[in-house]
Amino acid sequence: MNKKVIIFSAPSGAGKSTVVGHLLKTFPFLEFSISATSRSPRGNEKDGVEYYFFSAEQFRELIARDAFVEYEEVYPGSFYGTLRSEVERIWAKGHIILFDIDVRGGVNLKRIFGDNALSVFVKPPSVEELRRRLIGRGTDSPEAIERRVAKAEEELEYEPQFDRVLENDRLDRTLAEAENIVKSFAVQ
Ligand code: 5GP
Repeated sequence: MNKKVIIFSAPSGAGKSTVVGHLLKTFPFLEFSISATSRSPRGNEKDGVEYYFFSAEQFRELIARDAFVEYEEVYPGSFYGTLRSEVERIWAKGHIILFDIDVRGGVNLKRIFGDNALSVFVKPPSVEELRRRLIGRGTDSPEAIERRVAKAEEELEYEPQFDRVLENDRLDRTLAEAENIVKSFAVQ
């Protein structure tokens, strides 16, 4: 079986989740990798859908048991990681795994999966635009937005370590380009 993975990484608010959601609807052979996290569910998020939710203590236990392919403390005190069992679950169905993961995790996964992986960096047009989008999304406090913007500035420096760069300036164009990127990798 051909065990492929596609990794989407971006500073938060770059529009990555919209791109990932579109690709999952468009291509039935793609399956979203549900990450484990120690943060609490937001809004309507459900365990086993957006994330597998764990307490900080449970997360630490999973780390000690070597249950993760990779994990990161993406925000202070908030851990996110990809469970080995999740990767096996999706490959067992013959699907290509689609990751929505932070930039450091993306670089790590590319290193782990090598030629079986395509890593894509979704780039916001500018930091100002990113701030506007985060405000528009309405899910974060002003302090949280400033923290995310500062983090995004640092994360933008990871771009050269990715296979492909997808600049999200106009959504319709971005989605069409994302489809082409997936198609050409899937048929290889
Ligand atoms: P949020 O809390 O907004 O859902 O996600 C915060 C960040 O964590 C996003 O950049 C998301 O892509 C990243 N993330 C989600 N799952 C994982 C994972 O398994 N590993 C890593 N390293 N980052 C992840």
